[in-house]
Amino acid sequence: MKEIILLKYGELVLKGLNRSTFVALVEKNVRKKLKEVDGEFSLEYSQSTMCITPSDDADIDTAFEKMLTVFGVVSVCRGYKCEKDINQVLEAVREHAYELVGNKKTFKCNAKRSDKKFPLKSPEISALCGEVILEEVGGIKVDVNNPEVIVTAEIRDTAAYVHGNGVRGAGGMPTGSSGRGLLLLSGGIDSPVAGYMIAKRGVTVDGLYFDSPPYTSDLAMEKVTSLARRIKDYTGSMFLNAISVTEIQEEIMKNCEDRMLTLLLRRFMMRIADRVAKEFGQQALITGESLGQVASQTLEALTVTNAVPTLPVLRPCIGMDKVEITDIARKIGTFETSILPYEDCCTVFTPTHPLTRPTLEQIEAEEQKLDVEGLIQRAMETRRVIKI
Ligand code: ATP
Ligand code: MG
Repeated sequence: MKEIILLKYGELVLKGLNRSTFVALVEKNVRKKLKEVDGEFSLEYSQSTMCITPSDDADIDTAFEKMLTVFGVVSVCRGYKCEKDINQVLEAVREHAYELVGNKKTFKCNAKRSDKKFPLKSPEISALCGEVILEEVGGIKVDVNNPEVIVTAEIRDTAAYVHGNGVRGAGGMPTGSSGRGLLLLSGGIDSPVAGYMIAKRGVTVDGLYFDSPPYTSDLAMEKVTSLARRIKDYTGSMFLNAISVTEIQEEIMKNCEDRMLTLLLRRFMMRIADRVAKEFGQQALITGESLGQVASQTLEALTVTNAVPTLPVLRPCIGMDKVEITDIARKIGTFETSILPYEDCCTVFTPTHPLTRPTLEQIEAEEQKLDVEGLIQRAMETRRVIKI
């Protein structure tokens, strides 16, 4: 009898026309992640479920953890695979009764029979499995209406599986089903969350980080790299671009009104991001902006920054408050890194009284004092790329 991992795919998407593409993409992403795990894994897909069978020497614990990061998978569970024979099924339930029910106090058994030629019907299989659990596990009771755990026996075409409750998978759409996006990734809490949320919708996310040496340090760059790695843990691949805006910031400081510093810099960031994305094939920009959070994120300020890029700007955190964003940051493991106290290029030059209700005319007039195109071109020349 083999210990296996079962992945359940999102049912709604499976009903659509893109079903086969969706399934193929999840499988490709699963294979890619399993390559990083010790051992061999064979995959078999049928009826919205992927069955992963590990070799005897495989690291199934790590494989299980990795499967929780595959977008498009709604639940992941460990179970056992055996021959399609009722005695073997009952033997599997007996041998693994404790693992199947966990430490739960109430259960029910549920059998699914996709092979209709199997000699026993589903209710009969359920009843037999239930008897075995009651014999093996002390103190557990049957509760058909509201069980804490459902022990499932699935009789498939080639084999039978038994498993307990699954845990929630990463959900969303499979990576690669919605194109590529470029995330403006700072070292803060919001932008990694924004990247994760868009990645969850099937977008392969690349990063763009603006630094400002010598005002920002290598430690800040390392912090951003480790944030990028967390997003890559979900999507499987990421290119992180780094571009220096030192000259731009110094020129703004020297020539422009203090209260417009942040907005002017934002517009440069958007222009540069737009160019990078067009050159390297990303179809949208992604930011961690949240409405009203700071002076540069009022509706008026967003109108001013939004006026420069030609690509759509996705802002998944726009309607979320800090508590909601922080909850996601903790869940995806970016929070602890995000709160490390390294300086960001925006915090190096912060206006004391930033303009909160800017107009486009005001900002455009201020930009007349700068060689916008020259500054952008020289910044583009500082571009470095890291494959995460
Ligand atoms: P975050 O927590 O993501 O840093 P924030 O609340 O600090 O966001 P801002 O500093 O105003 O907000 O930045 C708004 C958005 O602009 C960020 O979410 C990010 O997408 C982008 N951004 C800001 N600074 C940088 C940077 N140094 N490099 C790349 N993108 C940046
Ligand atoms: Mg920030």
